[in-house]
Amino acid sequence: MMTGGTPRWAIGGALVLALGLSGCAGASPAGGDPGSGGKVTVGIKFDQPGLGLKNGDSFEGFDVEVARYVAKELGYTDVEFRETPSAQRETMLQSDQVKMIFATYSITDDRKKKVSFAGPYFIAGQDLLVSASASGITGPESLNGKKLCSVVGSTSAKKIKDTIANEVQLQEYDTYSKCVEALASGSIDAVTTDNVILAGFAAQPQYAGKLKVVGKTFSTERYGVGIKQGDTKLCTAINDALAKMVSDGSWQKALDDTVGTSGFTPDAATNPPKADACA
Ligand code: GLU
Repeated sequence: MMTGGTPRWAIGGALVLALGLSGCAGASPAGGDPGSGGKVTVGIKFDQPGLGLKNGDSFEGFDVEVARYVAKELGYTDVEFRETPSAQRETMLQSDQVKMIFATYSITDDRKKKVSFAGPYFIAGQDLLVSASASGITGPESLNGKKLCSVVGSTSAKKIKDTIANEVQLQEYDTYSKCVEALASGSIDAVTTDNVILAGFAAQPQYAGKLKVVGKTFSTERYGVGIKQGDTKLCTAINDALAKMVSDGSWQKALDDTVGTSGFTPDAATNPPKADACA
């Protein structure tokens, strides 16, 4: 007899659901295994024009387009985007706050100690953004005594610290948009991160004609899809989706519609890249 409260069938249903989820190695609060459907929570940047940008209630950029394509191929029916700032990406994957990260996220051996990567799906390179009127900064070798801005937890800041830290004053913020604002207001001399990110900022209407990308890269940044460490099943499914995205022309179209509008031309010798094998 039902005595009010939760109906029996509901308890049974919840049990089945709970058992079903705990039975899958790759299931997490951020999304089930590929093919299991439902919602997936995906990490992107919210303030990088051309790549990952929150615009009111909508999201746009190349990372967003790749994320949407992959999520659909993996059978998810709903994508929820969350902001994953550079310094928080590994932690957010480890703590199941996001299932996958598409956020200009370079594949590195250091990061692989904590997370795994599918891809790469894009190759960029570290560069410098300076005032359009600045003529003295032509590359990292001309930064002596200059104020340089980058982001906490990025490979861009690490590269500076590992190479020319005693020659420059490095200011670190949590997002690149803060660095670009500081550059536009004249409180710093240059911003450093990947060329494709810098080109997106330089093309913003409010900075048009005021900022320029130096155009001499000094690193190779291979953008991967961050996932929980060791989730080989998810990695393989993502790599299959990325290969399909390239072969059916969607990768090129997404790039042209997003990054392409900033006038940035990706390195055709390295793009589109082939994915690494899933470890
Ligand atoms: N691709 C570099 C990185 O993963 C710089 C861009 C970023 O911070 O997202 O650290």
